[in-house]
Amino acid sequence: MSKIIAKAAIRGAQKIVASAEEMLAKAIRENGREARVAYPNTAYYLPIMLLFLGQKVEKLGDLEESLQEAKKLLGSIPSDNNWLPYLGETLDSGVATLIAEEIIESLKYLSGPSPEQGIWLGFSDDSTLRMQGIKLVDGRMPGFAAIVGCCGTNAEAVKLIRELQEKSILVFMAGHSNGVSIAEQLNQSGIEMNWNSFLVPYGKEITAAIYALNFAARSAMTFGGVAPGDINAARKILMYNKERVKAFVMALGKDDDAPADQLISDEKYATAAGAINLGFPVVADTNIPEILPTGICTYEHVISGIKIDDIVNRAIELRGLKINLKKMPIPVPFGAGFEGERVRKEDMFVQFGGKYTEAFELLQLKPLDEVEDGKTEVIGPEIDEMEEGGAYPLGILVYVAGRQFQEDFESVLERRIHEFISYASGVLHMGQRSVIWIRISKDTKEAGFKMKHFGEILISKIKDEFSSIVNRVQVKIITDKSIVSELIQPAKEIYNKRDSRIGSMSDEDVEDFYSCTLCQSYAPNHVCVVTPERLGLCGAYTFIDCKASYQIDKHGPNEPVKKGRCIDPVKGQWENINSYVAVKTNGNLDFFNMYSMIDSPMTSCGCFECIVAMAPEVNGVIIVDRDYNGMTPLGIKFSTLAGQIGGGNQTPGFIGIGRLFISSAKFISAEGGHRRIVWMPKQLKEEIAERLKTTFEKQNISELFDKIATEDIAMDMEGLMEYVQKVDHPVLTMDPLF
Ligand code: SF4
Ligand code: ZN
Repeated sequence: MSKIIAKAAIRGAQKIVASAEEMLAKAIRENGREARVAYPNTAYYLPIMLLFLGQKVEKLGDLEESLQEAKKLLGSIPSDNNWLPYLGETLDSGVATLIAEEIIESLKYLSGPSPEQGIWLGFSDDSTLRMQGIKLVDGRMPGFAAIVGCCGTNAEAVKLIRELQEKSILVFMAGHSNGVSIAEQLNQSGIEMNWNSFLVPYGKEITAAIYALNFAARSAMTFGGVAPGDINAARKILMYNKERVKAFVMALGKDDDAPADQLISDEKYATAAGAINLGFPVVADTNIPEILPTGICTYEHVISGIKIDDIVNRAIELRGLKINLKKMPIPVPFGAGFEGERVRKEDMFVQFGGKYTEAFELLQLKPLDEVEDGKTEVIGPEIDEMEEGGAYPLGILVYVAGRQFQEDFESVLERRIHEFISYASGVLHMGQRSVIWIRISKDTKEAGFKMKHFGEILISKIKDEFSSIVNRVQVKIITDKSIVSELIQPAKEIYNKRDSRIGSMSDEDVEDFYSCTLCQSYAPNHVCVVTPERLGLCGAYTFIDCKASYQIDKHGPNEPVKKGRCIDPVKGQWENINSYVAVKTNGNLDFFNMYSMIDSPMTSCGCFECIVAMAPEVNGVIIVDRDYNGMTPLGIKFSTLAGQIGGGNQTPGFIGIGRLFISSAKFISAEGGHRRIVWMPKQLKEEIAERLKTTFEKQNISELFDKIATEDIAMDMEGLMEYVQKVDHPVLTMDPLF
C-alpha cells in the first residue's frame, strides 16, 4: 500500500473535512441549528450518514454530530478493530471524506447555489433510484462508471462516452481536471445528458461525486437489505457492491496544482478512498500509484496508467461486466444508452406517425416456410427520396417463425421494437402498436442511415435475444401511403383480439404460476410470484412475459411453479407456491397470501411502481405511485413509505405493486378489493381510468370511480374522512380492515 496514496488521501480528507466544518459553521450562523437540511424526495435522510453512522440527519445541528464522527475517523491511525488492516487509515479517511462531502453538498440545498443548475443535476431522488435500479437489476445496464476529471480533447471525451453508451454502462460525472469537466466537454459537443441517455452530470466540484456514492449507498439499503447504521455497514456495503453492483471510478486527467509526486489532487485521492470503501475500484489514465491485491483484499483497488483507448475494456475486465459485444451493421452507434435520447425538431430530418401521419408496428408468427429469413424489404420511398422536414406514413411488419414460438409471445416481442429501434443514435421512437412516433435526425441520415436499417436492427436483435424461440425473421418497412392505410385497420383488429384473449385469463384457469427472481441480484430474499391476474411489482413482467422468458431460457430468472393444492382461495394461498417461496427466499418466508395486503402479503424488493397502504382511519387504502412527489393523506410521501417496505421484506398493511394490478379483479380481494380504495394521485387515476372503469363496471360498482379522492380533494386524513362521508363511500359499511 503506497505511502503516497495514504498520505495524499488523509491530507485530502483533512482538507475536505475542514471546508465542511467552515461551511457548516457559516450555515449555522446564518440559519440556526434548527434549520432543516435535506435532499429532495428521499426517505434516506442524508444517505451517507444514515448508512455509516445510523444517523437521521434532519437539522443543521445534527450535522455537527456527523462532523465530529468524521473528525474521529480522520484521527484514527490503524487499530486492531479495523477490518481491512492493510488499508485501514486510508479507508477511514475515505469514510470521513464521504461524510464531509455529504455535508458540503447537502448545505447547498439549504443556502444555494442549488446543485441543480445548467447541465448539473445534483441529487438523484429515490424515485429515480427505483426506476433506474431495475435496469441495473435486469441487465439493461451492466454497471456504472463514475468519471472524475476530463479527457485531453472534446473529441476524446465524445469517443469515450460513445464507447460506454454503446455498452449501456451508466455514467456519472463529477469533478474536474484543471477547471474542465468531461460533462462540459460533452455539452460543448452537443451530447444530450440526462438519465435517459445514461449520462448523469452531477456537479463540477469533486464533492459532487457524493451523489454517485449516495446513490450506491441507497441502492444497497433499498435493494440489498443492508441495515442503516449497522456496525458492520461499511464491510457489508463493500461486499454487496463488490459482488452485485458492477461499478468503477474512472479518474481522468492531471491536476497541475497537485503536489509534485502525485499527479492528481489530495481531494481526489480522498474521494477515491471513499469510493474504495463502497467497493468501487479506481481506473486512471495517469500513472498514479496503484493499489493491488494484498492480504484479504482480493482485487485491485486502483489501477493506473491505462491508455484512454483501452480504459473502458480494462474497467470491464476488472469488474467482470457482462457486455454483449456484437456490432450492429448500421452506420451510427447503437446501444441502450441511446434509448431515451430525443431528436428535436430543428435536428430532425424526417418523422413518421405521431400526430402527423398514420404509422404502426406489428409482429406476427408465421409458418416456417412463409418467412424468408434475414430479408428486409422497403416498400415505398427510401430515406434519400424523402424531403427534409417531412412527415411520412410508416408500417413496420415483422414476421417470425419458430417451433417453440407461441402466439402469446407476439406481443412480448413486439413491445421490444421500441427499445431496439431507439437504441440507434439519432433515432427517436415512442409508443407502440398504431400510436408510434419516430424521428430520424439529420446527422443520422447524413451518416448513411436508411429505412432498411430498421429491418437490420430488428432482425439482428430478435435473433440475438430470442434465439431459442425464433428461427426466422423477416421485416417489411412500408412507407407507401396507400399500403399503410390499407394495413393499419387489420392490424388494429389483431391488437384488440390479443387484448381480449389475455385480459380474459384468470388465475383459476392455469395450473402453473411463474416466478421471477431477477431482483435477487439486488434483493437476495425477494421473489415475485406472477399470475395471470397479478403482474410483477415492477410492472415489467406479466404472466405472458414470464412464460416467454422461460421458453427463451429454461435456466433464467422465470420458471413455472405448480400451484398445487389450494389452501385458501380467498386469500390466495397454494401448497406448492408456499414451498417454492420458502426455498427461494432462503427460508425467510414460509408462505404468503397472493390476494391479501394485511395477512402475510407478498414481499417487496424495491422497484415497485405503486404502493398500496392501509388507512385504518377510513377503513380503506390509498394507492400512491412513484411519480407522485407530493404528500399523501397519511402524512408521508411515497419516498418515505417506500423506504420502509423494500429489501425483500413482508410489511403487513403495505404492498408494492405494478400499476396494472390496480385494475385486476384480484386486487386485494381478500380485504374486499376495489371498494377499499379511497385515494390515489390524480395523474395515476387519469392514466388508469379506462381500465379501472371497465373493471368497476364488471363488478357493478361504476359509481366508485368518482368516489376515489385525489390530492385535489383531500391532502390529509381529516379531509379524507369528511370526503368518504360526503360521497357515501363503500368503506363506511365494510368490515373493519383488521
Ligand atoms: Fe423484480 Fe419482481 Fe419485476 Fe421480477 S417481476 S424484475 S422480481 S420486481
Ligand atoms: Zn425489484
